[in-house]
Amino acid sequence: MDDKLMLMIPGPTPVPEQVLRALAKHPIGHRSGDFSKIIAEVTEGLKWLHQTQNDVLILAASGTGAMEAGIINFLSPGDRVLVGNNGKFGERWAKICEVYGLNVQQITAEWGKSLDTEAFRTVLEADTAKEIKAVIVTHSETSTGVLNDLETINRHVKAHGALIIVDAVTSLGATNVPIDAWGLDVVASGSQKGFMLPPGLGFVAVSPKAWEAYATAKMPRFYLDLGKYRKEAAKNSHPFTPPVNMYYALQVSLEMMKKEGLENIFARHQRHMNATRAAMKALNLPLFAADQAASPAITAIAPVNVDAEQIRASIKKRFDIIMAGGQDHLKGKIFRIGHLGFVSDRDILTAVGALEATLQELNYEGSTAGAGVAAAAKVLQGS
Ligand SMILES: *Cc1c(COP(=O)(O)O)cnc(C)c1O
Repeated sequence: MDDKLMLMIPGPTPVPEQVLRALAKHPIGHRSGDFSKIIAEVTEGLKWLHQTQNDVLILAASGTGAMEAGIINFLSPGDRVLVGNNGKFGERWAKICEVYGLNVQQITAEWGKSLDTEAFRTVLEADTAKEIKAVIVTHSETSTGVLNDLETINRHVKAHGALIIVDAVTSLGATNVPIDAWGLDVVASGSQKGFMLPPGLGFVAVSPKAWEAYATAKMPRFYLDLGKYRKEAAKNSHPFTPPVNMYYALQVSLEMMKKEGLENIFARHQRHMNATRAAMKALNLPLFAADQAASPAITAIAPVNVDAEQIRASIKKRFDIIMAGGQDHLKGKIFRIGHLGFVSDRDILTAVGALEATLQELNYEGSTAGAGVAAAAKVLQGS
């Protein structure tokens, strides 16, 4: 049906109407006093959201641009780095590092499993010469719905002294990422995920220790030179022409997030994850990630005896709900339900109900009609 599209993918995520309306305003000059005020306001809001006093810099880039900035500003060609890779986005970190001539060592885990924190400890403790300059980790691995144990990995990194560089693209604004309390050095994210915004902005939080590394880092950089952004941000300005309308939108979404409160936002994502997982169990649909490794942003499901792409196609056609598929070797094997950002209890019930109806149509064996919605509703009402 026209205009009824519902996004249940892990980005772009749904955008509130008040945010959409903010986007429709006339752009103003990016060197004007009025725009400086907006920069000041959103920068304060971003620090609140990131739980940090560090710089949080705003880029006109997707999340990958923010990731790339997180590498090229703090490292030099030939530097040894340790990269966690248990999915598409961990793999992307490794690729970025290789392109820039870093000496990459990977700690891998099977897709769907979380990274082994002890493997990090072993490698870091063995590096007594302190050759490893940075440890690079994806917090929420969107391709598989796995949340890596960043807190523990970070503790091992702190004991070693390397920089910790984090892809928090689908964990920021979904679960606790206390940058200052944990001492995270570089944290990258993007607007189309937990921020309730369309795609277009990337964010990088940078610690004082990372700025020290910046001073001696030798990779070439121009547009993504974060030093330029820091210098201009100090004057409530931006080095280039930023997407002015996205700043209006960011102003509104940050206001909405402040109103809800961080604790409530995290609790909502946790509840939606629990409700979705309970529904899948009730429907006899195997979950791809184990309970203790589950991401609060996205749930991956590995149906048996039915092609995941067929489920997706059917839900899209019948119900105008878009779910995500599997990537690479998981295509057709899994589908993923995004519950990140502007998602309410009602959305979860709708998605689960539509999935049930689809399973019935496809004669999926072992699922009882109504069982998924009942299980989700029970979690959502908190009993
Ligand atoms: C979406 C996403 C990114 C960034 O992807 P872009 O398409 O460049 O915005 C990076 N990491 C993770 C874990 C993601 O989910």
